[in-house]
Amino acid sequence: MEPLLRGLQRQGLNVSSIPKAIDVRDGGDCHFCTTCDAYACPSGGKLDSEVACVRPALASRNLTLATEARCERVVTNSGGERVVDRKVVHQGEVKGVSADLYVLACDVVRSPAILLRSANSAHPEGLANSSGQVGRNLCGHNASWFFLPRIKPLPPLHQKTFAVNDYYLGADQHGFPLGTLQAAGRMPVWMQVPRWMAPFAKTINDRSITCFGMSEVWPDPENRVHVDADGMIHVDFRANNVAGYHALRRTFLRHFRRAGFPATISPRYQGAGLPWHPVGTLRFGSDPQTSVLDPWCRTHDIENLYVVDSCFLPSAGALNTSLTVMAQALRVAEHMDRRLGGRAEVDEA
Ligand SMILES: Cc1cc2nc3c(=O)[nH]c(=O)nc-3n(C[C@H](O)[C@H](O)[C@H](O)COP(=O)(O)OP(=O)(O)OC[C@H]3O[C@@H](n4cnc5c(N)ncnc54)[C@H](O)[C@@H]3O)c2cc1C
Repeated sequence: MEPLLRGLQRQGLNVSSIPKAIDVRDGGDCHFCTTCDAYACPSGGKLDSEVACVRPALASRNLTLATEARCERVVTNSGGERVVDRKVVHQGEVKGVSADLYVLACDVVRSPAILLRSANSAHPEGLANSSGQVGRNLCGHNASWFFLPRIKPLPPLHQKTFAVNDYYLGADQHGFPLGTLQAAGRMPVWMQVPRWMAPFAKTINDRSITCFGMSEVWPDPENRVHVDADGMIHVDFRANNVAGYHALRRTFLRHFRRAGFPATISPRYQGAGLPWHPVGTLRFGSDPQTSVLDPWCRTHDIENLYVVDSCFLPSAGALNTSLTVMAQALRVAEHMDRRLGGRAEVDEA
């Protein structure tokens, strides 16, 4: 990686490091396998939500975890001011869940779908949807992978170590923000392609430094999640800001070539009809007419219902979203703790 970083720096680019929560200490749990980044860590060496949060919470004996449980619907009282039940399918049985406060955290597609499916006479357009914004403003990133092939296979390494943000706000010849570039985590991508292509994909992947470029997809109310009369989920999504994304690709292909690392590039990501790092379908804000959640991720319309996942972000900017989603989750957890009579200190600003 060093020659690549030096080659980028020689062109005047600022290469910064990426923070990681991986146990690479001597004797640590990371064994440098390539099943990292988007995969569950087989050895517990990555501080993902299971390792860092769920396991310690279970050990505290203050948490009951029901695996293989699926939330179907949220039920309010007849006036629609409070949630009084949540219907969860667990081991084939529909069960109710009764609580003071309720949190949905089912992702950018399923959380709004559950709210829409839960429509009742007090909320005919779906729960918490007086603004008409539930499911709308789906946004995220236009993204591509750059493959920088080398002659020999790469040794085991943590590749996701650097980022270049020089074009985040634009470039001389472009009057608009372009986005960012970063090293990608090493992943067994050959497992995701048709079987006949797998040996070829593995050969390329084993011998390539992989990087990842992304630019913003702007929020658009017509990009949205909705459900039909049978409760089936549909996603309407059309990418925008494609010119900025193409300018970012061209810019970094040039930088890689000048650094002595000619790259090939994947097509723009279009998996499952969503942008990369999707956010926005239940955006937060202080105005109940234009947002679904308040700044604490509580629905404007229902006083004991929160949504704490990636839906709340009104825009993804052009950076990875998870750290912001996690930071907001911690902030909301402190707020809820205080609401329930705990002593967490929380910055009201
Ligand atoms: C391949 C890949 C790589 C990524 N890399 C990065 C990265 O490097 N950096 C970054 O910042 N972000 C990355 N992301 C994005 C990041 O994973 C997401 O932004 C983040 O996980 C979103 O969090 P969430 O809580 O909204 O949804 P999730 O993390 O998807 O959590 C939703 C949970 O709800 C559960 N669920 C769904 N429906 C129901 C239901 N009806 N009942 C009960 N439970 C339900 C799901 O099983 C899941 O456990 C990546 C994503 C992918 C797919």
